[in-house]
Amino acid sequence: MRYAAPATVEEAQALLADDTGAQVFAGATDLVPQMRAGRPAPSLLVDLKGIDRLTAVTHEDGRWTIGAATPTAELTRNEAFTAAFPGLSEGAGLIGSDQIQNRSSLGGNLANASPAADSVPALIANDGQAVIATADGTRTVPAAEVATGPGRTSLADGEFIVEFTFADPPAGTGDAYLRMIPRTEMDIAIVGAAVRVTVDGDAISDATVVLGAVAPTAVVVPDAAAALVGTSVADGALDDAAATALAEAAEAACDPIDDKRGTIAYRRRVAGVLARRAAAIAVERARNGA
Ligand SMILES: Cc1cc2nc3c(=O)[nH]c(=O)nc-3n(C[C@H](O)[C@H](O)[C@H](O)COP(=O)(O)OP(=O)(O)OC[C@H]3O[C@@H](n4cnc5c(N)ncnc54)[C@H](O)[C@@H]3O)c2cc1C
Repeated sequence: MRYAAPATVEEAQALLADDTGAQVFAGATDLVPQMRAGRPAPSLLVDLKGIDRLTAVTHEDGRWTIGAATPTAELTRNEAFTAAFPGLSEGAGLIGSDQIQNRSSLGGNLANASPAADSVPALIANDGQAVIATADGTRTVPAAEVATGPGRTSLADGEFIVEFTFADPPAGTGDAYLRMIPRTEMDIAIVGAAVRVTVDGDAISDATVVLGAVAPTAVVVPDAAAALVGTSVADGALDDAAATALAEAAEAACDPIDDKRGTIAYRRRVAGVLARRAAAIAVERARNGA
């Protein structure tokens, strides 16, 4: 197995074009355990962390750009980023441990395509756009379109994610991410819920609800969002009927697995509860200027 550390996106593109057995990596916190578990090793490992653009975090002209290989610890430590996207920062901050987060990346979390990936629901809820290096340039797609099933992505051979971009959230916007794990630390979510809301005056004017770990990919739940939009938060809390409708829609959207870590019925129930709780936190953040 060979190892290469390109310094530019173009060098990485050329390496990948020359070797169809090549594979990129960032933190390798998924890759190395998978190889140790017996997954065939690639002929060439392409380390993305040496490319400045892939570890750059910028905020310019109303847009955030996050290099796909940026260690998630840098995002959770970034106060301005965390103020803008508290739920995404929360999701990134739940990945493994401090040691893991010094290596793990949003790009790896998304491209590994685990249904339980903790940063992905909030990445989608915040309308993250993935800039993808192709054979001869770049293309941009919603982050929601990258994972297509467990361990599967829409990335073609030789393609890799360069960065994610996010528009500044509108005034009065807040997001939140909650997950349920059977243990207290270092476990994989059996349900994750990200909610983003925008509050205009005393009512919710926009909402997005995304569930993780309850289907082959993260699930956007438009019915749950619709249950919130137009409802009053004048007394500082979610309207009770809206919260119940949101929870019911979240439960209905689940298509979970049944295993020793949680039954289908349990996962469904928890999805409703977490969506409701995450929405309450998102509303509070939206009202407090996030
Ligand atoms: C002890 C431990 C605990 C963990 N806990 C959690 C947890 O709580 N929640 C959670 O969500 N995950 C968890 N993980 C999984 C892992 O840490 C995350 O998925 C992490 O975000 C992966 O990022 P990475 O940069 O290390 O990915 P890598 O291992 O470098 O790559 C993962 C996959 O994505 C591909 N890839 C990487 N970067 C790119 C890119 N830019 N473009 C295209 N493809 C790319 C690689 O080819 C590989 O297939 C844990 C892992 C360990 C070892």
